[in-house]
Amino acid sequence: MWFYSFIMAITAIYFRSKIADLLQAARGASTARICKRTGCLKGAFQHHEYCSRTCRKQSLLPIARPCARPGCPKTSYVSERNVFVRYDYCAKQCFHKHSDGLVQTKLVFLERDNFDFLNVRKKVKGALTITKIARIIYPAKLAKGHLTSASQMKASLKFHGTRLVCDSVCTLGTTCSDPTCCICSILQSGFVVSFIRRGPGFYFAPDAATSVAYCTANAAGTKAMFLCSVFEPMVTKAISNHTDARVALPRFLIFYK
Ligand SMILES: [Zn+2]
Ligand SMILES: [Zn+2]
Ligand SMILES: [Zn+2]
Repeated sequence: MWFYSFIMAITAIYFRSKIADLLQAARGASTARICKRTGCLKGAFQHHEYCSRTCRKQSLLPIARPCARPGCPKTSYVSERNVFVRYDYCAKQCFHKHSDGLVQTKLVFLERDNFDFLNVRKKVKGALTITKIARIIYPAKLAKGHLTSASQMKASLKFHGTRLVCDSVCTLGTTCSDPTCCICSILQSGFVVSFIRRGPGFYFAPDAATSVAYCTANAAGTKAMFLCSVFEPMVTKAISNHTDARVALPRFLIFYK
């Protein structure tokens, strides 16, 4: 008798789970969605837009653009492991190569969806109302000292705020000849020891909010701040100063209101 009821119980459990499966399938069929990645025909994982994590990552990968160095046939660097790691050049060396062909510092204004624009904006952490960002490409004779040492020393990106006098650098990207326009002086010659205004060297801050105090606006109310590659064997102080100009190379110029 106990054996009979045992069989009955097992059968009941079996059918109940079967019915539950059928109901689930029926419910699933009505809401089943296909994976959001174009070209993937698999069903989306329950409550998700994609079939898998891999598929989600792949669909977030930005479309590779041409490398920012004119004449380079490669595409810009995008990390497949982390879709948010992306740069405008195909490789670091290619940026260095770009400066080889220049006799004057070149400013390139970046589109707002440009990879470097997004990277710089992220670094600013909302401390400034950015109006424009320009990439700075120094001619090799100015950049070499820094770039060749870059292979031996660890460089980090830091802010340097200073005085903007002219309007031409932010509207046209061309530097002025006013010696009191510190932004243009640094653009033309890099960090030169004779520019030092106060203290024993150049000051660099890890966050934009600190450098705001050193910026002076032009007549139109625009301010500008550099984001520089700086060598720092020991990063300990909030603001660090340097007397050797080769230790820092401005990479981006941020205009803000
Ligand atoms: Zn998929
Ligand atoms: Zn390239
Ligand atoms: Zn100027």
